[in-house]
Amino acid sequence: MPELTRISIVAPCYNEEAVLGTSIPKLIQLLDDFVVHHGCAPSSFAVLVDDGSRDSTWAIISDAVERYPGRIHGIKLSCNAGHQSALLAGLTYVTGCCDAVISIDADLQDDLNALPLMLEEFRAGAEIVLGVKTARDADPLFKKMTAALFYKGMRWLGVDLVENHADCRLMSSKALENLAKFGERVLFLRGLQPLLHGKIKTVSYGISPRLAGESKYPLKKMLALAWNGVTSFSVTPLRVISWLGGGVFFVSFLFSLHAFFSVVQGEALPGWASVTIPLYLLGGAIMLAVGIVGEYVGKIYVEVKGRPRYLIDAVVARDVGGVTEND
Ligand code: UDP
Ligand code: MG
Repeated sequence: MPELTRISIVAPCYNEEAVLGTSIPKLIQLLDDFVVHHGCAPSSFAVLVDDGSRDSTWAIISDAVERYPGRIHGIKLSCNAGHQSALLAGLTYVTGCCDAVISIDADLQDDLNALPLMLEEFRAGAEIVLGVKTARDADPLFKKMTAALFYKGMRWLGVDLVENHADCRLMSSKALENLAKFGERVLFLRGLQPLLHGKIKTVSYGISPRLAGESKYPLKKMLALAWNGVTSFSVTPLRVISWLGGGVFFVSFLFSLHAFFSVVQGEALPGWASVTIPLYLLGGAIMLAVGIVGEYVGKIYVEVKGRPRYLIDAVVARDVGGVTEND
């Protein structure tokens, strides 16, 4: 008999009292479906992470833990740490105790029918399966436009992101273990996925409107997330300053030469060169210096993130009389 897959579902919840009454039974139904129709272990479970909510979210989660013993687990964060941190708390909690985890928003805007497809891709060998929104009809126009702009900008900065993938994804236990090796504090989980190694697949689906309540991602939080994405994955903005500094310095040097020869040939007004040469040269030198400092800051930034230098996919070895022979 093939081994059953123990699956877990992680959903961060911030002030979600309006949706949890509907979401929790739907998640239980989904788990049942996984067990009955998709070869998942009856011990599969969902983890609801309360991200410092101020409404009755935690009371609802605690109640669900009692009502569905073993199937709903609750984690309460002491304050609003943000969606990415809440998600990480859930992922860390399930690391080592499931074969695969699916992360999903508590408002269940993502199409639940896509989840069994993710499981199929996982069974076919994918370590990570990214949910990709095809139609974003349920999103306001402003969100659609800013999202498109963000993905274009990230591509220009050389960051490997799958367009329209938010944080609905399946990760294998191996991908979870690899994620745990990344020491960075500022999180942008979707940017980390390509760095976790292993086969990545995508599953497309449409999104529906929020079940109830308002978006917990106001413009301020969206901008903060986008900025974290840029600054956590690209040193290009610093490099642009370096190149600009080099360019400005070169042009100012030419201008200074021109000013100098104008003086030598007696074509310059008295006092003009002594003002313009330091102005050009100093301006250029300052830009160049900022660029060089930026390069070092870039190196510090890479170091402090403490990302693993490598991740091992597999080790093969044969033990021959006490001596290990590598394949
Ligand atoms: N969320 C969270 N902490 C926050 C903001 C949001 O845990 O500080 C959760 C929220 O409860 C939801 C998910 O993140 O489960 C996505 O938020 P939302 O659905 O409001 O975002 P949108 O779909 O509007 O982008
Ligand atoms: Mg939502």
